[in-house]
Amino acid sequence: MNTNITSKEPVIQLKGLSKSFDGKQIITGLDLNVNDGEFLTILGPSGCGKTTVLRLIAGFEDADQGQIIIAGQDVTAVHAEQRHVNTVFQSYALFPHMTVFENVAFGLRMQKVPEKEIKPRVMEALQMVQLEQFAPRQPHQLSGGQQQRVAIARAVVNKPKVLLLDESLSALDYKLRKQMQLELKQLQRRLGITFIFVTHDQEEALSMSDRIIVMRDGRIEQDGTPREIYEEPSNLFVARFIGEINVFDATVIERIDEKRIKAIVEGREAVIHCDLDVQQHAPLKVLLRPEDIRLKEINENEESWGLMGHVRERTYKGMTLDSVVEIETGKSVMVSEFFNEDDPDVDHSLDQKVAITWVESWEVVLADDEEA
Ligand code: ATP
Repeated sequence: MNTNITSKEPVIQLKGLSKSFDGKQIITGLDLNVNDGEFLTILGPSGCGKTTVLRLIAGFEDADQGQIIIAGQDVTAVHAEQRHVNTVFQSYALFPHMTVFENVAFGLRMQKVPEKEIKPRVMEALQMVQLEQFAPRQPHQLSGGQQQRVAIARAVVNKPKVLLLDESLSALDYKLRKQMQLELKQLQRRLGITFIFVTHDQEEALSMSDRIIVMRDGRIEQDGTPREIYEEPSNLFVARFIGEINVFDATVIERIDEKRIKAIVEGREAVIHCDLDVQQHAPLKVLLRPEDIRLKEINENEESWGLMGHVRERTYKGMTLDSVVEIETGKSVMVSEFFNEDDPDVDHSLDQKVAITWVESWEVVLADDEEA
């Protein structure tokens, strides 16, 4: 292991990485730095190239163009076994006829590690994933979550700088998956190993990662913390891919001050927070998460400033009351209101008229220059 790097230097640097298969460009000029000890998630829809990025880092695929630097060393032309990375695949790929101990020991034996070193190292790795007592069992005698932990023990036994995890929780049922998400995050902190985790599940990405890369068609659409990605999506694709969001069409009337503009939003005049440099009549998209919207019941013949509509669906969700409000333009707006001390009895009848407001400045405003 290279110990010369400081924690400030990225442990992985991808520079201008490109890859095509059968003449089709899959990864295009990808630049990415991964910091030492970071839990980084690559998130994106099926087929966007997430696994290909992992396979390029691991050395299972050769890049057409670009450079891969791991722990300060240019490994672009270095064989997979000589890179300081290990991979945990979705299938876990455990050897079914070997015991848990032998599965974890396999890599060390391949590297011709002396026999007397193998036992303590395997047991240490099994201890990290709290499976020491399962050492003599075979994989089929373990639950899905336990098999996943064996796969991780096997991957960390030779102390890689970086662990690559490809959709490694997707085979588990919902409850176990939630539990493993937590365990994996705790394990990563304990081990201090950099994790690069691939998933198409946005909730999983938000809850586990220090940083998320959102990919589409072989390119990075946004790079940020979970909070930045969720609260400040940089475009409509990211906004829609990460959770539910309402997209309102708007047109600029005039700027009020540095932070606010007056605009027509879905046919109604409204004040929105916007620091984009926009001209009069410029089209905008105003994005609002369902939980940022507030509904105020009004009488059927009452007029209110801003958006109005009628409740067309209401669903009790335990912590929230979720409503669908049809506004005057015919658009459906999703609203999720929490029950809390200030408003313990939040409830709306079907067809109730409501005024729509939102938490000031929580709207995201984008220039309308891309296809919806
Ligand atoms: P998923 O979430 O479905 O696993 P992904 O984002 O990980 O998708 P990749 O597995 O990286 O996507 O695949 C990206 C594209 O590259 C797909 O269209 C896939 O068919 C193609 N592809 C991947 N590997 C190869 C290969 N060895 N030969 C030909 N095409 C490939």
